[in-house]
Amino acid sequence: MRARLRLFLASAAVIALGLSARAQDSAQPDEALFRAIYRELIEINTTESVGDTLIAAKAMSKRFTDAGFPESDVQVLSSGPRKGDMVARLRGTGAKKPMLLVAHMDVVEAKREDWDFDPFKLQEQDGFFRARGAIDDKAMAAIFVATLIRLKNEGARPERDIILALTTDEELADSPHDGTHWLLENHRELIDSEFSLNEGGGGTLRDGKPVSSNIQLSEKVYRSFRLEVKDPGGHSALPRRDNAITRLAEGLIRIADYEFPARLNAVTGAYLQIVTRLDTPEVKAAFAALAAGDNRPEVLAPLSKKPGYNAQIRTTCVATMLEAGHAENALAQTARATINCRLLPDENPDDVERALKKVVADDRIAVIPLGTVVDSPASPMSPEIIKAVEEISADLWPGVPVIPTQSGGYTDSRWLRKYGVPAYGVSGIFSEEGKSGVHGLNEQVGVRQLFDAKLFLYRLVKRLSGVDRPG
Ligand SMILES: [Zn+2]
Repeated sequence: MRARLRLFLASAAVIALGLSARAQDSAQPDEALFRAIYRELIEINTTESVGDTLIAAKAMSKRFTDAGFPESDVQVLSSGPRKGDMVARLRGTGAKKPMLLVAHMDVVEAKREDWDFDPFKLQEQDGFFRARGAIDDKAMAAIFVATLIRLKNEGARPERDIILALTTDEELADSPHDGTHWLLENHRELIDSEFSLNEGGGGTLRDGKPVSSNIQLSEKVYRSFRLEVKDPGGHSALPRRDNAITRLAEGLIRIADYEFPARLNAVTGAYLQIVTRLDTPEVKAAFAALAAGDNRPEVLAPLSKKPGYNAQIRTTCVATMLEAGHAENALAQTARATINCRLLPDENPDDVERALKKVVADDRIAVIPLGTVVDSPASPMSPEIIKAVEEISADLWPGVPVIPTQSGGYTDSRWLRKYGVPAYGVSGIFSEEGKSGVHGLNEQVGVRQLFDAKLFLYRLVKRLSGVDRPG
């Protein structure tokens, strides 16, 4: 009797395990292929200085043709020397417009002497994969390649084509070779889609435990200005209070003291609703006031004085660089500052320029916009996509909330959104805050976390392409 009960309990446990993420995880049939793709991508150096994304694009296209994708559905494109993009398409029934998966192949520079190991050799150690690109963005790139090949091997018939674009130059600001931008501009037909999945989301671990899973729906818009004062100068032994440096400094103080008006959009409203729940009563009250349309600075102060919240609720501008003068013993003839602004996605850049001029309130301080603005609207809160992310996330990480986010920085999603392809930043890759080494030293991702992300994205792609219908 006892033995039979134990046997019963044991088989019940096996059934329960069979449904859990961990068991499915170890059962991923394409683990060996995925590992080979991941290693190959990481060990092809794709830095700007000495690397080559065209080699990586060719290597990944070979993975697809070797897996039986017709050559006409796999393209390698190049916008310049050592610059490659790759587009592969898994055909669906055509009942729906395609979906696009995007990952960039280029990586941030990494110097061997600064790291604890060779950044361009994949290491697996102490439960981590370590290398430059271990997360950003070769994790998603390798997962997407393996996923498309797996779906083909499984004979999947999605309701829509699934397109994968592996791109170059995402990490370089304003590169004319940025693959996502370049493809949208020059080969739109290859990647035209109803929506896209990209980097920019992910999960947060605290002491190894998953606490939140993010879906990135919008990004603030990057815009810098130069402030410049010209002056005849003169001898510093005969100073005037009205000189270029003092004038500029006073203008900078007025900018520092200015707050752009606070407001919420659908994404930040949903985000703050969730994250302020765990905060102080003052912060909760300030959020409730803002949500009710009250944007008086004194009411919102508890939100505004925390940089993380402040960046969510308003456009911000801050001085980041300063240069003035030509000699220790002379009055400056030129004083310049760089102001870096991060605009709410629906803010008009011309309005920001006008606001800065008004705040500076000095005709002798020129306010000059720098670079180009990529104004990209927030992606719509698509119930179909959010529900799919929530359900798969709940299955893999029970009890961990899915939080819609607006990033302060940008990814290639800005181009997708600008060109009318709504982008959703989701990866399922969980990491400890500040410990992943992304863009820094000793980049790493947990082996377990990477395989969970792989399973998450495989299921999400199936669900959103109609291989797996909800319900
Ligand atoms: Zn990236």
